[in-house]
Amino acid sequence: DIRVRFAPSPTGQIHIGNIRTALFNWLYARKNNGTFILRIEDTDQTRSTAEFEDVIHREMEWLGLDWDEGVKAGGDYGPYRQSERLEIYEEYVEKLIEEDKAYYCYCTTEELDAMREEAKTKGEAPKYNGKCRGLCEEKRERLEDEGREPVVRFKLPEEEEQIVVDDVIYGDVEFSSTVLDDFVIVKSDGIPTYNFAVVIDDHLMDISHVIRGEDHLSNTPKQILIYKALGLKSPKFAHLSMILGEDKSKLSKRSGEAYVYVSQYRKQGYLPDALINFLSLLGWSPKNDEEIFTVDEIINKFSMDRVTKSSAVFDVEKLNWMNGHYIKEAELEDIVELALPYLQEAGYADKELSQEEYEIIKDIVDLVRDSLDYVAQIVDYVDIFFGELKYEDQEEAVDCFQEEGVELVLKTLKERLGDLEDYDPDSILEELRAILKNLPVGGRLFYHPSRYAITGKGSGPELYHVIAILGKEETLKRLDKALD
Ligand code: GLU
Repeated sequence: DIRVRFAPSPTGQIHIGNIRTALFNWLYARKNNGTFILRIEDTDQTRSTAEFEDVIHREMEWLGLDWDEGVKAGGDYGPYRQSERLEIYEEYVEKLIEEDKAYYCYCTTEELDAMREEAKTKGEAPKYNGKCRGLCEEKRERLEDEGREPVVRFKLPEEEEQIVVDDVIYGDVEFSSTVLDDFVIVKSDGIPTYNFAVVIDDHLMDISHVIRGEDHLSNTPKQILIYKALGLKSPKFAHLSMILGEDKSKLSKRSGEAYVYVSQYRKQGYLPDALINFLSLLGWSPKNDEEIFTVDEIINKFSMDRVTKSSAVFDVEKLNWMNGHYIKEAELEDIVELALPYLQEAGYADKELSQEEYEIIKDIVDLVRDSLDYVAQIVDYVDIFFGELKYEDQEEAVDCFQEEGVELVLKTLKERLGDLEDYDPDSILEELRAILKNLPVGGRLFYHPSRYAITGKGSGPELYHVIAILGKEETLKRLDKALD
């Protein structure tokens, strides 16, 4: 049975790299009729908050990454929050201590600092020197009486050992045990470290595949040693390459263009399906060169052997192109729903809309949505429909209205549109063409001044649609202003 998990720490917003990890786990589970588990790794109690746990749930729900077992879903392998599993870990720590595979360490910060300094002067990597490895019971008691609170350290094998991570994506990756030291598995506050808790949980939750970021590959030998020491079989590991910014550095808040948190994409009006489509192609590719896929198609095509080990570059322009495509293809009503909050925020729409007002907004959204990369941009495209008309460039406006023949154009337009009975886009288009035909001017002297007079800008959406949406009264008012 395939059982995979996403195990975020609720210590901040969800990073885009992390959600890609969640997505690949989810795809792997859905593709193989497996189980997808959401486990909250909150052993860092100073940084973990309930609020960030909510963030995890909210962003995953928004993207449609549903989980079969986890904090909100329940399941037979709970609790799914590490802070509620402390007693479970204790049992395993005791076992290791009893079998002399782990030990209490009482070293103070000063002592540890001194060890680090010493290693430095020898030009070696800082390592714990094993000082507390063989403490006798008496000595231990004395240190306890002094009030020292110990950590528990894992005892590395005495002899050098090659630890091989048999990674689904990277192949065999070898580590020598000599690069490690007796690492801490329980902190002095009694709470296990990540490397320890993760092993116990992955074992007890019967995880078949650990799919996670490549930044954890170097933790894997430690975890393998713990599995071995406890006589447990380790799951299969699959590490996903990092996502890089366009400057080829690790995608971080500083790498320029791209947002790094899922919430930022949600707030800018990216569509969940577009983001899923885009993220799925970061480190994975289907057999052909197609790029637009529904979620079901991605699930269908997904396979681990097409996940690459080279890092993926986050191309914002590609995401924007893709998202624009999804905006064009979506149900108009859905885009209207998404657009309304931005329009309200900008003062272009009331909270409560009459049917008539809603229809106008809908026409506007329909007209401009092809121009959008993400829905928040809509406010930059719709100002022409609202409020008092302002010319983008006053001088350009005056110049173009004063050109030879333009006054006649604007006057004729005003008269003919004023007389037009069916004030709908098709009739308006037909009328514009008819007017142009009868006037002694060419297209340039017709369309540019008309557009400037009616929208205040040199470019924008199809003019006949704009004229229809503005309505007769407002159009004539704007033509008057230009003729003034
Ligand atoms: N809590 C770890 C993280 O967020 C999980 C790593 C893992 O999947 O093992 O990075």
